[in-house]
Amino acid sequence: MAGADQSSLDRFAAAVRGRLGGAPVFLYWKGRVALYAILRAMHIPDGAEVVLPAYTCVVVPNAILYAGARPVYVDVRADTYNIDVDRIEEAITGRTRAILCQNTYGLSPDLDALLDIAARHGLHTLEDCAHGFGGTYKGRPNGTCCDAAFFSSQWNKPFSTGLGGFAAVNRPGLAAEVEALEGEKLSPNRKEVLTLRALLIARRWLLNDATYWPLRAAYRWLSRRDLILGSSRGQELDSAEMPDDYFKAMSAVQAKAGLRALARLDELLARRRRNAETYTRFLEDHGKTAVRRDLFPHHSFLKYPLRVRDRAAFSAAAEKAHVPLGDWFVSPIHPVRSHLRRWAFDPSRFPVARRLAAQVVNLPTDSQTPRKILAFLERRLDLIL
Ligand SMILES: *Cc1c(COP(=O)(O)O)cnc(C)c1O
Repeated sequence: MAGADQSSLDRFAAAVRGRLGGAPVFLYWKGRVALYAILRAMHIPDGAEVVLPAYTCVVVPNAILYAGARPVYVDVRADTYNIDVDRIEEAITGRTRAILCQNTYGLSPDLDALLDIAARHGLHTLEDCAHGFGGTYKGRPNGTCCDAAFFSSQWNKPFSTGLGGFAAVNRPGLAAEVEALEGEKLSPNRKEVLTLRALLIARRWLLNDATYWPLRAAYRWLSRRDLILGSSRGQELDSAEMPDDYFKAMSAVQAKAGLRALARLDELLARRRRNAETYTRFLEDHGKTAVRRDLFPHHSFLKYPLRVRDRAAFSAAAEKAHVPLGDWFVSPIHPVRSHLRRWAFDPSRFPVARRLAAQVVNLPTDSQTPRKILAFLERRLDLIL
């Protein structure tokens, strides 16, 4: 049994590696754990600084804080939803050790400029590809341009293993350091693995267009009460204290789900691109804010960001019309909305991130029937910016 489990994990790692230019790949229980492993491998001294975009998910600054470093935020650009490369240098100090960038919604940041800044200052580079697996930057797969990258394969990410994540390490010396941490990984416990397996089976056999809304309601009800294996536990949203069982390995159940999902990924990526193109054409035709066409060739479009006024009204109308909207990111440190100083974040300093977080909703890009979504948008053009 242990041998069969190891072989699933090895085959999954090899499949991922094959799509990422051959860099060594390391597997974890979640993407955030992969980030933590990379930061540990970089030997960032206590109190040193990591520069990151001011529009991210709370688990990112959490991992930085768990590794003993300090997150230093840089505002984002409204057209890419990613770090404003022109503002990175003003955030660099003598204590900076690394720059982290992100593929928000599957859109790339200006990586060439960022790599140039990092080289001039002698800093590590790290890419948060939680949204970006399968996309490219100037022909290079996302996750292959920086020293290292981490990916998430949680439920809503480019492909899913339920929960899950991995690191791809492009600099050989750093890969050896990540490898050295492999022995520290905890094994997920039996109950967690069985719960995850049940959820994966439920998703595979029960989730379809007819069951989506009732299942979503049930899932939300359970996870609000911490009765389900949600992606973040209360503790991770309330404080920057590392949970005891955080540094956990991927299970074979996840690896097997990953192998199945990867086999269908290219078809899904093509559909995401097609839908994104459809949304852009629609928004441009109606004089609304669209993702820039010149950014298109690179992107994987995990989600399509749409800016609205009165998000509550727009979301309620969408729910009524059974249009499944996403809510990434409703806060610059999603999904935390208060006490942001616990993550060393001062909202007043990041006006663009604040504005985006106030206006954005996400259109699904995996839909087989974008026509229904377009019909809804057409009815609510009054709320679209
Ligand atoms: C989902 C996500 C993560 C973390 O992934 P997990 O697998 O849930 O730990 C990190 N960064 C961003 C931007 C994400 O959306």
